[in-house]
Amino acid sequence: MLGLMQDWPLLCHKVIDHAAQYHGAREVVSRSVEGGIHRTNYRDVRNRALRLSKRLEMDGAVLGDRVATMAWNTWRHLEVWYGILGIGAVYHTLNPRLFPDQIAWIMNDAEDKILFVDLTFLPIVKAIAPKVASLEKIIVLTDAAHMPDDLPANVVAYEDWLAEADDDFAWKTFDEKTAAGMCYTSGTTGDPKGVVYSHRSNVLHAMMALQPDMLGLAARDRLMPVVPMFHANAWSTAFSAPMAGTSMIMPGAGMDGKSIFEMLTGERVTITAAVPTVWLMLLQHLDKENGALPDLERVVIGGSACPRAITKAFQEKYDVTVMHAWGMTEMSPLGTVCSIKPEYAHLAGEEKLDIQVKQGHPPFTVEMKIVDDEEHELPWDGKTFGRLKVRGPAVSSAYYKGRGAEQFDEELWFDTGDVGHVDAHGYLQITDRAKDVIKSGGEWISTIDLENLAVGHPDVAEAAVIGIAHPKWDERPLLVIVRKDGREPTKESILAFMEDKVAKWWLPDDVVFVDEIPHTATGKIQKTTLREQLKAYRFEAA
Ligand code: AMP
Repeated sequence: MLGLMQDWPLLCHKVIDHAAQYHGAREVVSRSVEGGIHRTNYRDVRNRALRLSKRLEMDGAVLGDRVATMAWNTWRHLEVWYGILGIGAVYHTLNPRLFPDQIAWIMNDAEDKILFVDLTFLPIVKAIAPKVASLEKIIVLTDAAHMPDDLPANVVAYEDWLAEADDDFAWKTFDEKTAAGMCYTSGTTGDPKGVVYSHRSNVLHAMMALQPDMLGLAARDRLMPVVPMFHANAWSTAFSAPMAGTSMIMPGAGMDGKSIFEMLTGERVTITAAVPTVWLMLLQHLDKENGALPDLERVVIGGSACPRAITKAFQEKYDVTVMHAWGMTEMSPLGTVCSIKPEYAHLAGEEKLDIQVKQGHPPFTVEMKIVDDEEHELPWDGKTFGRLKVRGPAVSSAYYKGRGAEQFDEELWFDTGDVGHVDAHGYLQITDRAKDVIKSGGEWISTIDLENLAVGHPDVAEAAVIGIAHPKWDERPLLVIVRKDGREPTKESILAFMEDKVAKWWLPDDVVFVDEIPHTATGKIQKTTLREQLKAYRFEAA
């Protein structure tokens, strides 16, 4: 017997319909790329997205066509996404921080036909466009007045192009499993792998993200996604915020501490989200300027492990609750959020921070398990760590063109490549990437734990730990430090600071000081490059 309920396909553009209908006047405020603050609302975003769908069709775009975007978070990027989705074309976000050759490779792999690009990234696009055979048109997200001269005929100004259509258009309807978006993972080895979201997975994922213990967005909130739309769907916010009728405050190209501070306070942001490096910049700015964050209630921090010192500063100095989150491009991206369950509600101070360094617990639909090298499930005791596997309706079932098939098994478990442990209350703690974990005398040492500890030292700006070959123990940890400006920490002072906080055999065998630690295009420490840079290093005793 089948249920007798309506078969209502979960299509992404229904989200902007809902926002326009029930929250139409809610603001979408952006720092525009040309300069100045731009204000619109969900009603107008929808109208312009309808116009955009119609205009794309006039250019011959159809269901399944890949349409790339290389853009900051602004109202234009948002309406471009919905316009693409409304005809069943596929938005493909490009990360401008990748090497140009890598971007060209990705565009060729996806066979992008049209590209929307912000003025900022036009130089990159000019260099790579000749290498992308499928690319027919480039639309610059600005008006005619701001267009540079001497551009080829297939490069047009967005506002002029859009004005050639009206908004008398009806969204297309199709199967909810239709591809909605693409994003390539910034793999550090091998070719990038394409993740392909569906309309259904995006809608389900946004609903999951809205749960109170996850992002918990409400119509009264003003959300600033600092995390770019080209980094794993801006963590669902382009869908979850309109779904909840939450105002969106878009930072545009202003990613420095001062600009973020101005938007947070000037626009009365209540919740924001970004990677730890962004928050380090903001906290430094606040320190320098003696600033306060009177409206901000919650900050979501993920993408790499959030150091305890950041959580402590936000909560104790600025009265802002930190929600540590873990996820992956392949998971749409939300995997877990560290909100406090009743079991931990009695904790305060350092004991509470002990929980908040964990990445947290999953929303409904995300299933996880940890396994050893023989695929045996490991206990959830908060200390036994193993490879983390996940599955769910907003988790990839394959990569584009079947790459990386070994990461998926027949029961659909996806091997995240992360290593972690889970405690009795279902809180995950990521201890490493599988390829970074240090194997010392048959036991594992977590590089993330050591890094977090080291950045708690008052003179340390950034820390990374890598394994160095050791004749007796196979591998031992080497701590790499970037000093804070004007500070002179020594190896001895750092090791003394760490000494009573980890098992003795975890303590790094040596500390080296560098000016800079290399990062990936999504702001993570690039350990492959760091290992390469330090490949001549040997421990003295070895
Ligand atoms: P991406 O697909 O670029 O978002 O990268 C996903 C990877 O980032 C994960 O597999 C983790 O290795 C890492 N990651 C994301 N969030 C966290 C976190 N809160 N703590 C530690 N690692 C994280």
